[in-house]
Amino acid sequence: MLGCKLEAISTVDREQIRDNLFRVQERIAAAAQKAGRRSDEVALIGVAKTQPAEAIRAAYEAGLSHFGENRVQEWEGKRATLGDLQATWHLVGHLQSNKAARAAGLFQSVDSVDDFALAQRLDRARDGKDGEPKLRVLLEVRVEEEEGKSGVRAEQAAALVEKVVALSHLELAGLMCIPPFLGDVDKVRPYFRRLRELRDSLDHTIGRRLPVLSMGMSHDFEVAIEEGATEVRVGTAIFGSRTAK
Ligand SMILES: *Cc1c(COP(=O)(O)O)cnc(C)c1O
Repeated sequence: MLGCKLEAISTVDREQIRDNLFRVQERIAAAAQKAGRRSDEVALIGVAKTQPAEAIRAAYEAGLSHFGENRVQEWEGKRATLGDLQATWHLVGHLQSNKAARAAGLFQSVDSVDDFALAQRLDRARDGKDGEPKLRVLLEVRVEEEEGKSGVRAEQAAALVEKVVALSHLELAGLMCIPPFLGDVDKVRPYFRRLRELRDSLDHTIGRRLPVLSMGMSHDFEVAIEEGATEVRVGTAIFGSRTAK
């Protein structure tokens, strides 16, 4: 009896996910238009942490092709049944360096690199694998003053970027940030702007464009798009609320 009940609870509402996805895509298009940008300049990453594999499959079948997870182990468990999906898998959560080698084999992009030792481990894990593309990485920048948050401090980003671009198995594509969660989303705008301005200054530092700005989540992605986001990471607005762990 208990087993049946649990199964019923975990049943994924595929139609709901499809409707949610379409709604998010409409909101992205509207925000892009408002900012004078094309909606295809903004990639949508469905953050599926704590959601079951069937929820990912439902979103994929509704047209989503980028997914984010925040834990290596959780994704190792889910991917077993999703091997047939032609999707791009992003690690968006903090990565401990002792899991770097595993992450390098499981994800096409690590969006949360925030120190050089970690970058080196990712680089080494891709070494000697002929024919494998470079591992895409983003630097996670701490846009808040507060200590203890993940991400490299903005003042130290230039030094880290210079070292990471020298690693031959990584492709540094841009920057990512997780600003504070604020009810008034317009108060988040300065954090997004700060990341964009930092990116622009780093372009000068390394002499090439860093094309990617990964910023904006369910409650604030429209503002992020207005401030130049090229990737938004959306969880609950697509998959519904997360089950408490
Ligand atoms: C969970 C998570 C998201 C998505 O958050 P929602 O508020 O559910 O959209 C985005 N980015 C990161 C790094 C996350 O951990």
